[in-house]
Amino acid sequence: MHELSIAYSVVEIATQSATEAGAVRVREVHVRLGALSGVVRGALEFSYDIACAGTMLEGSSLVVRELPARVYCAVCDCEVELPSVQYFCCPVCDTPSGDLRQGRELDVEAIEVDLPGDEHGNAGAGDSQGNSE
Ligand SMILES: [Zn+2]
Repeated sequence: MHELSIAYSVVEIATQSATEAGAVRVREVHVRLGALSGVVRGALEFSYDIACAGTMLEGSSLVVRELPARVYCAVCDCEVELPSVQYFCCPVCDTPSGDLRQGRELDVEAIEVDLPGDEHGNAGAGDSQGNSE
């Protein structure tokens, strides 16, 4: 399963960020998931629990923020949200557009951790870990 290797990468990134922040445990990992990332959300959530076992992320939750696909429409001169990833046309004027601006994201957005002696510590994983492509 493709999602399992992605889950392991997410755990690895979160572990690294948490370690750098001096955290003892990770409570939540927030990821951004684009509609065209090719990742099935349910499969990723399932794989996440497996990937977390035996790490400092064990028992943590994966918070997925789904991003719709967006293209730039030259006719409307703006970014528009695609109602379907099978249909690359502007929903306003129906002009075909392949100028993708959002939808391939798959990255760790933030992590929530426990710091030593602090029940409610927070540590960001940085703005972005970069796109997968
Ligand atoms: Zn348009």
